[in-house]
Amino acid sequence: MANYAIRFLLAFGQLNVDFQLIIMPAKKIVVIGAGFAGLSAATTLADLGYAVTLVEKHNMPGGRARIFEAEGFRFDMGPSWYWMPDVFDRYFARFGKKVSDYYELIRLDPAYTIVFDKNDRMRIPADYKALQELFESYEPGAAKQLDAFMKQAAYKYEVGVNQLVYKPSRSLLEFMHPSLLLDMTRMDIFQSIRKHIGKFFKNQKLVTLMEFPVLFLGATPQNTPALYSLMNYADLKLGTWYPQGGMFEIVKAMESLAKEKGVKFVYEAEVTAINISGRTAKSVVTTAGTFEADVVVGGADYHHLDQQILPEAYRNYSSDYWKKRTMAPSSLLFYIGLNKKLEGLTHHTLFFDEEFDQHAHDIYTDPKWPTKPLFYASLASKTDSTVAPEGCENLVILIPLAPDLEDTEALREQYYTMIMDRFEKLTDQSIRDAVVYKRSYAMADFKTDYHAFKGNAYGLANTLLQTAILKPALKNKKLNNLYYTGQLTVPGPGVPPSLISGQVVAQEVVREYPNH
Ligand SMILES: Cc1cc2nc3c(=O)[nH]c(=O)nc-3n(C[C@H](O)[C@H](O)[C@H](O)COP(=O)(O)OP(=O)(O)OC[C@H]3O[C@@H](n4cnc5c(N)ncnc54)[C@H](O)[C@@H]3O)c2cc1C
Repeated sequence: MANYAIRFLLAFGQLNVDFQLIIMPAKKIVVIGAGFAGLSAATTLADLGYAVTLVEKHNMPGGRARIFEAEGFRFDMGPSWYWMPDVFDRYFARFGKKVSDYYELIRLDPAYTIVFDKNDRMRIPADYKALQELFESYEPGAAKQLDAFMKQAAYKYEVGVNQLVYKPSRSLLEFMHPSLLLDMTRMDIFQSIRKHIGKFFKNQKLVTLMEFPVLFLGATPQNTPALYSLMNYADLKLGTWYPQGGMFEIVKAMESLAKEKGVKFVYEAEVTAINISGRTAKSVVTTAGTFEADVVVGGADYHHLDQQILPEAYRNYSSDYWKKRTMAPSSLLFYIGLNKKLEGLTHHTLFFDEEFDQHAHDIYTDPKWPTKPLFYASLASKTDSTVAPEGCENLVILIPLAPDLEDTEALREQYYTMIMDRFEKLTDQSIRDAVVYKRSYAMADFKTDYHAFKGNAYGLANTLLQTAILKPALKNKKLNNLYYTGQLTVPGPGVPPSLISGQVVAQEVVREYPNH
């Protein structure tokens, strides 16, 4: 009755908006997981007036992008490449902020180095003219070809990143707009990126450079749609950036903005169950208490929520479905503190001195510890003096591995020796004798820390059959008010897509559960 009277007064303009907010309490949203996707969803919803509580298993935000400190070194545990700066700009602009309100961005030049052999390196310049000259030096006519390639890639980036990735992908109808359909034919969805690149460049080293961004997508170039040449545009035109202080600066910025918008953070709160009544999720049970919810947004690993947290009757997918997914690789990482500076290396170095296809075969076709793996070395201390003590180097080595392999200390050590042998030989300097700190991280840690399915690092591979509406859905099919966000749903793995995923799910919540 009281509610009826209030609605009557509202209808006749007798109550102002502030009073509406007092008498009609904001809907309660519980977001699970403070990775990029969870932070993004929570902030977007809090900004629209929802009462948002974010529950996180760890004692800090960031998820796969957490940090740790040891012996005076500060290590970013996950992402190290800051690509697609426009996506971050757009995210902060949504809340009336600028990236520069939070951290200083530096464009890396060279963006990165590819080591093919001891005396054979390719340094990728930030300047496009210099890049064209580099291409021409490897293959006559390649500079012009690069222009043609980039023109298409720019178009794909424009349509892909500005229109397609913000779609919730709940139905094909979302893509049925006539102008979008026309665009889609130019998006190269049914051709592989390997074939696409091969039409423009013949030189194997240029081909390797152009295929490298595909590694971020977790699939082989043969299985990745040519749509993703938009990643080449992101790489070679938009550039590789670094937030001074490290990648965790992005997380700190997002947490601070979330708090400003009113998000309540509860750390060391591991979700163990979701209480359900009928078709409605009622509350989220964590190790730090139970939180009532009108809507739940799951930003923890999708498989974990679906298969381990929800009772069987409410799961979106069967265990068979999950078994058939192609996961992106896991990784073996070494976080290393060195008591000296390394010679001749840049911030990012890719060691492509072995066959990419053989390593890919050991990841996707015949999953096993690779015989001759490619690896990546990050030396953030080349750009940033705050991540290592003076005169020291902060080194992170990453070796992509097939998910769900046996993971033992002995195997990790075997690969440490193998990689260090090559690293020292290829860079012509001793490294192991300067190691003052070392920690390894691999499949078993991804499982323990993030409940990662098969110990994956980057979620699902971006193959054609795992794109858009073919990805795990962002809404539960049996519960009206449970949504998912993060790298296992749309639009996919990576920091920018995770930021976008949070915004996409927020838009769906707003549409179906308007606040007032
Ligand atoms: C080694 C590595 C290197 C990478 N490099 C790059 C890169 O250079 N550039 C790039 O763009 N991307 C990179 N990525 C990918 C990128 O980091 C991820 O795609 C992105 O961080 C995923 O964000 P998310 O929010 O989906 O998931 P997550 O970061 O995994 O967040 C999920 C959160 O949920 C929490 N959680 C899980 N279970 C529970 C539970 N039961 N209760 C409560 N909380 C729970 C977790 O603790 C975590 O904080 C890299 C990833 C890794 C692992």
